[in-house]
Amino acid sequence: MSEPKPLPFSAPLQGISEKTIAIHHDKLYVGYVNKKNEIAEKLKTLSHGGDVSTANQTYSELRALKTDETFAINGVYLHEGYFDLLGGDGKPSGVLLDALTEKYGSLDNFLNYFNACGMAARGWVVLAWDTREQTLRIFTADAHNQGGVWGALPVIILDVYEHAYFIDYGSDRKAYIADYWKNFNWAKANELFSKAVGCRL
Ligand code: FE
Repeated sequence: MSEPKPLPFSAPLQGISEKTIAIHHDKLYVGYVNKKNEIAEKLKTLSHGGDVSTANQTYSELRALKTDETFAINGVYLHEGYFDLLGGDGKPSGVLLDALTEKYGSLDNFLNYFNACGMAARGWVVLAWDTREQTLRIFTADAHNQGGVWGALPVIILDVYEHAYFIDYGSDRKAYIADYWKNFNWAKANELFSKAVGCRL
């Protein structure tokens, strides 16, 4: 059973209201944690001698649980990664800044591309470390369990679902993404990146 993690920051954010964060964290994120636990409980029964004889690729209880298991787990992990990187001062620094500059030519190039990916996605844009090819990649996802690649470790995670910004920005996702970077915690992103680059598959 996993427990919801508390918000890792307390100060109000720039642009993104406390109301948005409260709904996003306390209702939506906590809802994913609860469903993750509910699914895990049911799968535990099935994986410990339960009746799996009806397993079927068109529809079966096992199929529904296995599909929604990845949706719920990624819903939890992606949101935790998103909240973890908010509450910072937005000043770019450190080894991640160096790596982005090297990979994309400049921080501005990276930001232009990453932000555009955020406009092109329906759910998430993620900068991840590919542990096989030892390189940074940007993925877009239209659902929690779609769009990523196995063996890649998320470093920067941005939620671009409408619930993340509509109360504060209406349909102006661009303004929300711009404010995301004003609240970005580069120190934490550098910690994550430093751990990720040590991983090789
Ligand atoms: Fe969300």
